[in-house]
Parts: sequence; C-alpha cells; structure tokens
Amino acid sequence: MNGAEPAIATHIIAKEYGDVAAVDGVDLRVNPGEIYALLGLNGAGKTTLIRMLVGMVRPTSGSASILGHDIRRATGDLWASVGYLVETPSAYPELTVEENLRLAWRLRRMTDPDRVRTVVEELGLTPYAGRRARDLSLGNTQRLGLAKALLHRPRLLLLDEPSNGLDPAGVVEIRDLLHDLAQRHGVTILLSSHILTEVARLADRIGIIHRGRLIEEVDARGLPARLTRSLLVSTRHNDTAVVALRNAGYQPSYLHTDRIILNEPDAVDRPDEIATLLVEAGCPPTRLQVDAEELETYFLRRVGADRIAP
Ligand code: ATP
Repeated sequence: MNGAEPAIATHIIAKEYGDVAAVDGVDLRVNPGEIYALLGLNGAGKTTLIRMLVGMVRPTSGSASILGHDIRRATGDLWASVGYLVETPSAYPELTVEENLRLAWRLRRMTDPDRVRTVVEELGLTPYAGRRARDLSLGNTQRLGLAKALLHRPRLLLLDEPSNGLDPAGVVEIRDLLHDLAQRHGVTILLSSHILTEVARLADRIGIIHRGRLIEEVDARGLPARLTRSLLVSTRHNDTAVVALRNAGYQPSYLHTDRIILNEPDAVDRPDEIATLLVEAGCPPTRLQVDAEELETYFLRRVGADRIAP
C-alpha cells in the first residue's frame, strides 16, 4: 500500500434489500494505477458494490469516495474522469455501433473528432461499426459497452464482469487492453469477476467477496505461494486412518467423504512414510496422490464452498 490517496475507498459500506445484506460492511481501498479485482460467486455482492460506487444504488449505511470525492456529493466533474460498465451494457438498439458511440461522444461534449474511430479500433469493433446494436453478439455488445466506458479516457474504470460473453480470444484482447491502460496510462481499474484464473492474470490485487463481505485480499503475484499442496489419501477404513494420522501428529481432514487430505509439508514430501504409517495401522492406502491446489479450488476453499457441485 503506498501513501497516495486511494482511487477508491469505502468505509463499512453496506446495502440491504429487505433482510438480504447484499453488501455487508465493506472497507475497500484501491490504489491509483492499480488493477483490483473483486472476486466472488454469483450473488456475492460484487455488482451491488460497484453500483453503489457509480451512484446507481444508494448505500444503506457507510460511505465511499472515488478519486477523493464523496460519492454522495459527486458532480459531473468527477464522472468525466470515471468510466463504468455495470451489468448488461446498454446501447440504443436501432443505432449502429458507431452512432451509439458518436452519441455518447456528443453527450460527453468531447472535442477530439478521431476518438470514436480509435476506441472502435481499440475494442476490435471496426468490422461491426456499421451494425445495429440490437444485431450484435453478446461479446460485441460487451465490447461496445467497454468502448463507451473508455471513450472519454477516464482515469478510473469500474467494470462489472468485463469478460462477460467474450470468447477466449476476446478475453485475452480485453485483458491486454486493460493491462495497457493501467501500465501505460496509469488508469485505475476496479473490476468484478467470478473467474479466478482470469483475474489472477489481470489484477494486481484480488479481493474475495462472499455473502456481502470482503473476506480476503490477495496480492495476485503472491497467489501461487498460497496454493496448498496436499496429499490425498484413500483407504478402505478412512475413520481408522484418520485416527492413526492424528496420533502421529498430522491434521487430516476429509475431502468429500471418501478421501483424506493432509496439508503438512512432511506428508506431501514423504508420501512413502504416510503409506508405511497406514499399513502399520491396518488400513493400507488404496490411493495416494500429491495434489497442487488449482486456483479455483483455492477460491472455493476461501469462501467455504469447496463441497459445492461443479
Ligand atoms: P452475480 O455474479 O450473480 O452478478 P453479484 O456478486 O454481482 O452476483 P449482487 O448482484 O450484488 O451479486 O447480489 C447480491 C445479493 O443481493 C444477492 O442475494 C441478490 O439476490 C441481492 N440483490 C441484488 N440486487 C437486488 C435488488 N435490486 N433487490 C433485491 N435483492 C437484490
């Protein structure tokens, strides 16, 4: 964390819908020039948090500032520096891609006549510039939404699921574009996603949001070191095996009901010793496997959802 004023700061911000705490007291700080990803399952509260930041939803309690401005007192000057894409991008369906962007260009009172063309190129929309918005694929609708968010060269971008609807090549293109904006132009980006592998490649920091709470923040570069290596063990008498392992000083736990997990480096590095121990306890292993945790598993583990069906 550097000493500069954060680009986004929230203070125990919350939003309740009836008895649903969509966002439940989040303190978030996003540093200038940083790409910060909010990662969470469906319904975790990502969209609601972003909607509050852009003034689409009024917080039930707490406060937030973006680019140093309290969002309750935000003026047009602030929105001139902010671009956002929240949920399904909106466009005038009967207007073409270019007409939609020209209209946004006029509404923003922009003066650079080439800007629409360059943003169309940046977003890979040139072949579709003359196509009506209603006839676009989901991926190109998303690109148009991103083009509108980027049109006025904002210093801060808030993007709800920016990869939504994009094919794998499109995901890479948009990732490169966002990297470039952050690295070469110092743009700060807050985005949301439920795909850990994607945000791990894009973000500097990842905030895991679950049931409306920010439960963990991870430096994306440090993520691999956090992934657990484990030894997965199956025997015909797992309860006996667990007791034997506990007696030997390990802390076994169950993965689903049929496998035992050992996370101690001792066990992972010396599966032969575990095998010997289990043989001596009368429950020889039927399977021993060293497993490096996938990023997705890490995420599900952090949100306590590792037993949900894929
Ligand atoms: P997704 O990835 O599915 O978009 P999310 O993390 O963006 O999920 P939110 O859309 O913020 O989650 O929803 C958080 C919770 O708040 C959910 O339980 C949702 O049903 C509820 N919620 C969101 N908007 C409203 C609303 N307008 N009225 C009532 N409940 C809402």
